[in-house]
Amino acid sequence: MKIKIGYELYNVIFHEDPIVCDDVRVEGYWEGTTQTIHIYKDLASTKKKQVVMHELFHAIENFFNIENVTEDQIQRLSTGILMVLRDNKELVKFLME
Ligand SMILES: [Zn+2]
Repeated sequence: MKIKIGYELYNVIFHEDPIVCDDVRVEGYWEGTTQTIHIYKDLASTKKKQVVMHELFHAIENFFNIENVTEDQIQRLSTGILMVLRDNKELVKFLME
């Protein structure tokens, strides 16, 4: 899957094997230098969407040079946006018109 963020085009790669970053197992991570979002494939469906949205927020944070955003803020904002979009199909349709 590809995700366009402004003029940047991210590749989303779903990995079969667990992802380890700095000796810690993670559900996903984003890589600005290669414009890639890595996601562990074997997550529950909703969890996988939340992780994609979380990493997407990191990419947007980077694109707009937003500073001092905490991991907790990214987590709550990304989860909140996904929740509202999933619960409001009419809103999504309106936004996409
Ligand atoms: Zn994060």
